[in-house]
Amino acid sequence: MRYFSTRDQIAPVTFSEGLLMGLSPDGGLLIPEVLPTFSEKQIIEFSHYSFVDIAKIIAKQFAKNDILENQMDKICDDAFNFPILLKKSKNHTAILELFHGPTCAFKDIGARFLASAISQLQSLKKEKLTVIVATSGDTGSAVASAFFQKPFVEVIVLYPDGKISPRQEIQLTCWGENIKSFAISGFFDDCQRIVKEAFLNPWWKSNKNLISANSISIGRILPQTFYYAWAALKYFSEFGKKPGFIIPSGNLGNATACLWAKKMGFPIREIVMSTNINHAVLDYSKNGHFLPHPTISTLANAMDVGNPSNMERVLNLFKDYKEFQKEITVLSVNDSQISECIAQGEKKWGEIFCPHTATAVYAREQLQSQDWIIVATAHPAKFETIVEPLIQKSVIIPAALEKLLMKKISKKVLPAELEKLKLEIL
Ligand SMILES: *Cc1c(COP(=O)(O)O)cnc(C)c1O
Repeated sequence: MRYFSTRDQIAPVTFSEGLLMGLSPDGGLLIPEVLPTFSEKQIIEFSHYSFVDIAKIIAKQFAKNDILENQMDKICDDAFNFPILLKKSKNHTAILELFHGPTCAFKDIGARFLASAISQLQSLKKEKLTVIVATSGDTGSAVASAFFQKPFVEVIVLYPDGKISPRQEIQLTCWGENIKSFAISGFFDDCQRIVKEAFLNPWWKSNKNLISANSISIGRILPQTFYYAWAALKYFSEFGKKPGFIIPSGNLGNATACLWAKKMGFPIREIVMSTNINHAVLDYSKNGHFLPHPTISTLANAMDVGNPSNMERVLNLFKDYKEFQKEITVLSVNDSQISECIAQGEKKWGEIFCPHTATAVYAREQLQSQDWIIVATAHPAKFETIVEPLIQKSVIIPAALEKLLMKKISKKVLPAELEKLKLEIL
């Protein structure tokens, strides 16, 4: 399988070349040359497979003819060592819980697959590399946790000092060994600027084999197709109906994976993107004009995105916006609706939701049709400062998170300068 750019201006790359590439050199995003497809007979056969078994089948197609093809069983077993649950709920609806990994958000799934694959690749090549990420919270902890103690890889995480929650900070600073995290005196944008400067800087170029691991990384999107395939099959075989998915969306990586899984032939009826009041995709769905805007802060902060980075991958799937409208519904949910949904969660659904998942639950409540799967992207205990006042009790902390919160942290504050970071790394 080869990978092309959405802008079609580069020679195709292999799966393992794609893993190490962030943005394509022509400014586009990598996409598979063709999506693997499966016959109806195969799909029926897959119905009773476990998540990991389905992951292995699809992963081998994505890595076909690559040096990692034969490593895919091992990579999937290593990456997916925690449960993914499809829970039947009320009102012809199921909830896909993707937050039982080490940092309690769905980003663990993509980050752990990427980390496993890259570490395997570097072990074969016997070459070291450095992953550098700027984070405003969730991404950094998933990436740090995924690469912790992986051979041949070092990780540098930059986050804005004082701008993330105390629990998020612990999850970034509790690692040590091959994970180096720094609190930058400044904003998230300063962290991102330093990352960009490092990629252009001669010292970093000649001394560190740098790669990024942000939400455009193809190695994070591909594994997200696995759970859509598995959950759709499971729902279909149990209820005989194709489910629609409602996906809390920000940079649209998760929604892209669902669109790909549908194209691959898995029984997915339709897709709803639930967003907060950041409205670039909503506007596009209404009028066909994609206009990025400055980010608006909301309660669902991991979805605070004014310029969704995977939009180019989504648009690449459709001839025009009429076709987009046919396949995708966008529903925008504001902070008071998110709060109301969290407050009513136990009464209406018997569940406590995180603010991101709450956008999908709210969207579900607006839809008349049946057979929906709500994608639950994070555990509510990660956002206790928002959730607890609304439900007027404390959220039980899952064991995985508890384990991290008990670890010793080591925090290092740095001025927002690349040179200072170099001195620390030397
Ligand atoms: C990152 C994130 C999202 C948004 O996912 P995208 O792939 O960027 O659309 C939603 N919920 C949570 C909890 C997240 O961490």
